[in-house]
Amino acid sequence: MTVGCGVGMSGELLGYKLVGLRQTIDSLELEFAQTAAEFAGTNEYDEQGSTSPIDWIRHTCHMTSTTAANCLAVGENLERLPESFQAVKSGEIGFAHLTVMARTMNAVPDRFQEGRLLEQARENSPGKFHHICRHFRHAADPKGYAAEQAEQVENRSLHLSMWADGSYLINGILDAVGGAAVRTALEPLARVCGEDDTRERDRRLADALVELAEGAMPRPQIQVTSSVETLLGLAGASAAEMDFSLPISAKTVERFACDSGVTRVLLGSESTVIDVGRSKRTVSGPARRALNARDGHCRWPGCDRPAKSSAAHHVVHWIHGGSTDLSNLILLCHRHHWMVHEGHWQIVRSDDGRMLTIPPTTTFGQLARGPD
Ligand SMILES: [Zn+2]
Ligand SMILES: [Zn+2]
Repeated sequence: MTVGCGVGMSGELLGYKLVGLRQTIDSLELEFAQTAAEFAGTNEYDEQGSTSPIDWIRHTCHMTSTTAANCLAVGENLERLPESFQAVKSGEIGFAHLTVMARTMNAVPDRFQEGRLLEQARENSPGKFHHICRHFRHAADPKGYAAEQAEQVENRSLHLSMWADGSYLINGILDAVGGAAVRTALEPLARVCGEDDTRERDRRLADALVELAEGAMPRPQIQVTSSVETLLGLAGASAAEMDFSLPISAKTVERFACDSGVTRVLLGSESTVIDVGRSKRTVSGPARRALNARDGHCRWPGCDRPAKSSAAHHVVHWIHGGSTDLSNLILLCHRHHWMVHEGHWQIVRSDDGRMLTIPPTTTFGQLARGPD
């Protein structure tokens, strides 16, 4: 094969070529699966020091353990799936359908119905077919299905580790139901949000997770300890402290302090607590209700995050003498609040009352930018 072997072909011809290639690959997959099953019947893997045939195939044939296991499942069930075998041969269904079929047969061997499922395989994509087979398995063996889901829950785990620069690495595994619950909570928060939102989906999901966490936590529990100098952004001021975090920047403290809901502890020069809760500048009770009623949602153009997940942003920060009157407050959601503080965006009210946004200009020779 040479690189660029489709060069010069029309789109239609390329399409035909792809279908033909896939059929050839699927035929080879069938042969691979049959051979894998035969190989598993020998003890060659054991003699070569592997723990199982799947392990040997995974390692020696450079495959993931899932694809190796799928091939073996197909190979071992192929004799009991004669119609499906033919359907792959003739290109009616793909090898991907057959792996789902073989897995289903393994799960419910006594109640398996090849004809009925093959009909579904012909009409549906492998992903949809997988879904259909899950329903079939549940109908055939509800107890076994429930046991399998319960086993998934046993495998749950979540790792949070902090890198040297304070970033968090998150990885883990959730059972199907738990994972779906998390996804259901994140999806609405991960939608494209307002103007200037060019974030890729993975970034929107990351922001959604943070937003969810901040919304779920009663805000006074966020403990930030900062000096007045830090809050003012004075040169030479140290960073602020926050639970579970490396020291945080003055800009972030400015945002936390802007949102009245966050408990903050400001220390004077002799490390005495001079302000806890900042009651005078708190936008709560009737004042917050009036703000919610006036703005309704985040005021960033095009953003509709509701009032309950938005912060009361001081247009002129109280640390610089801004008041807590309604005229100096607007609702901003987590991301847009971040953009006006850490991201250096500006949001201003035009003469006709509309909100206008101004992208960051250069600061310290570098372009400050929003979270993309
Ligand atoms: Zn603010
Ligand atoms: Zn917003």
